[in-house]
Amino acid sequence: MIKEALTGHKGWTPAWRDVAPQAHYDYIVIGGGGHGLATAYYLARNHGAKRVAVLEKGWIGGGNVGRNTTIIRSNYLLDGNEPFYEHSLKLWEGLEQDLNYNAMVSQRGILNLIHSDAQRDAFTRRGNAMILNGADADLLSTKTIQKRYPFLNVDNARFPIKGGLAQHRGGTVRHDAVAWGYARAADQLGVDIIQNCEVTGFRIEGGACLGVDTSRGYIAGGKIAACVAGSSGRLMSKAGMRLPIESHVLQAFVSEGLKPVLPGVITFGAGHFYCSQSDKGGLVFGGDIDGYNSYAQRGNLPVVEDVCEGAMAIFPMLGRVRLLRMWGGIMDMSMDGSPIIDRTHIDGLYFNGGWCYGGFKATPASGWCYAHLLATDTPHEFAKAYRFDRFEKGQMIDEKGMGNNPQLH
Ligand SMILES: Cc1cc2nc3c(=O)[nH]c(=O)nc-3n(C[C@H](O)[C@H](O)[C@H](O)COP(=O)(O)OP(=O)(O)OC[C@H]3O[C@@H](n4cnc5c(N)ncnc54)[C@H](O)[C@@H]3O)c2cc1C
Repeated sequence: MIKEALTGHKGWTPAWRDVAPQAHYDYIVIGGGGHGLATAYYLARNHGAKRVAVLEKGWIGGGNVGRNTTIIRSNYLLDGNEPFYEHSLKLWEGLEQDLNYNAMVSQRGILNLIHSDAQRDAFTRRGNAMILNGADADLLSTKTIQKRYPFLNVDNARFPIKGGLAQHRGGTVRHDAVAWGYARAADQLGVDIIQNCEVTGFRIEGGACLGVDTSRGYIAGGKIAACVAGSSGRLMSKAGMRLPIESHVLQAFVSEGLKPVLPGVITFGAGHFYCSQSDKGGLVFGGDIDGYNSYAQRGNLPVVEDVCEGAMAIFPMLGRVRLLRMWGGIMDMSMDGSPIIDRTHIDGLYFNGGWCYGGFKATPASGWCYAHLLATDTPHEFAKAYRFDRFEKGQMIDEKGMGNNPQLH
């Protein structure tokens, strides 16, 4: 690195090979987002898989993995979720050493603000469930919050702050670095990463999936693993499947750079607004999804207004901060707000999706558990609740208790 710094950075080689697709792979992962790349990496690393390809229709990092607000946490209530997300957080904690890549994992903490007595009860219950599952949770009093976050108006605000649930191990991770780190590490283990290669159809014969048609020709595969997040509905319809998933746009925003003002991630409990500060100084924030189904990677103005209203309600000091950029990504919103990692009814075709807007934090565990399913044909113990048949059997994992309304999860 020192040599490159002194010689004008001319000697760097690409982080992963640019390969042409081969005729056959043992495993074909469709989608080069965080989850697809992590799946390929853990297939090679944990299960010794040799002939693995990741097919990405665009470029690595162009999907939600490079569009999210970078928050990681494991503050879930329900049994189906909490062990999975805690496993993910533990993997984040060792990720940089594992990949030998600086992903800027920053455990700066996350604080969910409490604004009513009922909310305190709910958050206490969630904190206790987290502790029972081996995660960390800390119920903070208003006094402690006032001391740690003096800029919050605890008494006179429109929504007085009555405490908060903190997870000190939560935080943020540089999202592009996650994509690049997994891609480089997978490539070093022999995984072929093929960009500009869109899957346009599945070859299904006698109830088994034999391969995929792509914009770069037909590729045969032993096991085909769909992992395309917001495009799940569109992709699986090519295999004749209709999923319990709707696609919606979620927007994110970043302000001009400021001196350090926010010590960690803070979420507003009386509206939908969450905010952290990037290492460059920009405030990174977001709120609700746009209120209609869409596959467009751009959002609409009513949500901008709604998010800014949330910001002003809890951080009036942001009123004079200038917005630098905003963008959108396509969310695969499932009916109960929880994901699916499962086989399909078609032999050799597997599915990973339904991450809603919480899938970034799940990236390592999702890859780990999906690779386990693909290699062993049995669900990983932390992902065994994420099955398709839970919708048939009524065994929902409805973390927010919102019912089958994907817009509200
Ligand atoms: C604005 C925003 C904020 C968010 N904030 C957070 C957050 O703070 N914390 C959190 O945990 N989660 C967050 N999320 C959610 C999180 O980003 C996603 O759930 C997660 O990244 C989805 O998994 P992925 O990385 O594999 O998706 P993607 O990166 O979208 O990967 C899917 C890939 O599949 C490719 N693809 C699609 N169709 C095909 C095809 N036919 N053939 C080949 N390739 C195809 C796409 O091009 C894409 O690259 C946020 C999302 C957005 C948009």
